[in-house]
Amino acid sequence: MLDKKKIKEKLEKERDDLLLQMKDMGKFNLETGEWETIPEELEFPESDENDKADRFEDFEARTSVMRTLEPRLNNILKALKNLHKESFGKCEVCQKDIEPARLEANPAATTCKKHLGK
Ligand SMILES: [Zn+2]
Repeated sequence: MLDKKKIKEKLEKERDDLLLQMKDMGKFNLETGEWETIPEELEFPESDENDKADRFEDFEARTSVMRTLEPRLNNILKALKNLHKESFGKCEVCQKDIEPARLEANPAATTCKKHLGK
């Protein structure tokens, strides 16, 4: 029997950690339903071209981090939503129970080890 309470706590903690990281770098756009990276505030408005280039690189780096965090967050939100369902913890491909060790390591997993990445 799955310990859903434990899984829920883990998912919620992971969600909060992700949200903290994401809020640091961007904001959620309610109109598009997507996360947007926001550039850092200008410390010195009259910064030279080098500073601008640095800031642009930094923005690019933050955007790419956001792109990896967002799907993780979405998976966690999905798992939280499905947690109470009968189908939670079952592989989306073969409908068999997902290995408990795998679920424990990644509560947002939607497939068993055999169907990983499908
Ligand atoms: Zn499977």
